[in-house]
Amino acid sequence: MNETEPKIRLYVDTPLHEGAEIGLDRGQSNYLVTVMRLEAGAGVAVFNGCDGEWRAEVTDAHRKAATLTARTRMRVQEPLPDLHLLFAPIKKARTDFIVEKACELGCARVRPVITRYTQSDRLNIDRLHAHMIEAAEQCGGVNVPGLDPAQPLGTVLAEWPEERLLIFCDEARTAPPLPTALAETPRGTPAALLIGPEGGFSPEEAERLRAHPAALSVSLGPRILRADTAAVAALALAQVALGDWRA
Ligand code: SAH
Repeated sequence: MNETEPKIRLYVDTPLHEGAEIGLDRGQSNYLVTVMRLEAGAGVAVFNGCDGEWRAEVTDAHRKAATLTARTRMRVQEPLPDLHLLFAPIKKARTDFIVEKACELGCARVRPVITRYTQSDRLNIDRLHAHMIEAAEQCGGVNVPGLDPAQPLGTVLAEWPEERLLIFCDEARTAPPLPTALAETPRGTPAALLIGPEGGFSPEEAERLRAHPAALSVSLGPRILRADTAAVAALALAQVALGDWRA
């Protein structure tokens, strides 16, 4: 098998160890054999979110049901920073964008929350998960973030674990900017970002959030950002302050 770094990376839902047989689904088989024209003996990088990244070999180049065999581990499993993103679903394409960027930016868990002004058609969790897997394969990560079904904001707040910092991105912009607000928070603190819908938070929601014991109100600058812009900006700033964007 060609020993250079495999160019193709695949997420597989199979335990990975030396000699592990990996049966690919039709889509993955078509991609490897028909689109990428791999033959038996070719190398593919595979990861499953818990066993690190492995170099695998195409052992059966079947167009519809290819098989790989894991040969050597290339990377150990690394945890993602303990950072969650709570966001109110918006238009489908922009929600897809938020979920994909959350994965690239190293978010550990994505939690759609339904707020008073949320206007969204039904969330297709399977489609969103497929976007996350594609993003994980592209960005070189060995994890795929968790993705929860949508929950009402009230339920989420009522069950909020006190040890997790809830970073409330408050469009009122009276709170300190996120980096200033997190200046004293130790790196690695379990945290979550909360981004509202296009219509923002209702006055009641904003009041409840500002009063919540685990919440920290922050501003994302002097301009009103679209929810998808706010999600990317907040995740980047939170990764610098609390996550794995460091020397
Ligand atoms: N339509 C609302 C803004 C909603 S923006 C209005 O005009 O007030 C969508 C979400 O992005 C907001 O709920 C908030 O969570 C976040 N957001 C946008 N701009 C922000 C800013 N400057 N500071 C903090 N949060 C912001």
